[in-house]
Amino acid sequence: MENEFEDRLIPATSVGSGIGKPITTDIYCLPIQVVNLFFVGEPGQKWVLVDAGMPRSADEIIEEAEKRFGKDAKPEAIILTHGHFDHVGAIVELLEKWKVPVYAHELELPYLTGEASYPEPDPSVDGGLVAKMSPMFPNHGINIAEYVQALPSDHSVPGMEGWEWVHTPGHTEGHVSLFRERDRSLIAGDAFVTVHQESLYKVMTQKQEISGPPKYLTTDWKAAKESVIKLNELGPLIAATGHGIPMTGDFLAEELQKLTDHFDDIAIPEHGRYVD
Ligand SMILES: [Zn+2]
Ligand SMILES: [Zn+2]
Repeated sequence: MENEFEDRLIPATSVGSGIGKPITTDIYCLPIQVVNLFFVGEPGQKWVLVDAGMPRSADEIIEEAEKRFGKDAKPEAIILTHGHFDHVGAIVELLEKWKVPVYAHELELPYLTGEASYPEPDPSVDGGLVAKMSPMFPNHGINIAEYVQALPSDHSVPGMEGWEWVHTPGHTEGHVSLFRERDRSLIAGDAFVTVHQESLYKVMTQKQEISGPPKYLTTDWKAAKESVIKLNELGPLIAATGHGIPMTGDFLAEELQKLTDHFDDIAIPEHGRYVD
């Protein structure tokens, strides 16, 4: 295992980077630069890490985890919504310390076992400077074959009782979202996000607005649309996404309905390498 992302840093950080916030008593959102990761579990109890942040953020993640769960606390497992570099950036260092199992959708495994690279980001999509900068984002897969395995086929989520995983392809083939019926909490990864992720200004200020998956890295727009329809049908009351501030209640319901109804206008770029 080695971390090939070490030298690939992104010159952008949102205003809230490093400032963690509880969304519910047992879901804690930690923004790292431009991406969110989540601790799921009551403070001091067993917990699971969802997604693994940006390159070089392992120390920050470990420190924050120990603050919440106690000294030398390590998660029961790490669940990945998908394997893009901004969701697995710190995972190699985290695994060196924690040595815990990692779960992802089976279609995502080739990108996590060194067998495949993601398609190149597309800087020609409309939307702003982050899209323009996207060619510097690493697209190659990582190799954590020792630790990673497919999510259980019964849709349960290891270490997260009461949650189910939902296959939400489009942004990547094996992208998953996590849903808990009890309080209708949704961790949506990049299936949709709550910030206009292509715009540097909006990423830095974290202006809250619903948006489709980040355009420069999404390759199958038909599947992406079906995934948003599927998530809207679940009727989430809380949505924690890979980018942007978590959204809740009526505002979420209205915004997600709007995205579902006008997906082609809101989400799909007017032109781009992965648009028909
Ligand atoms: Zn992504
Ligand atoms: Zn992302």
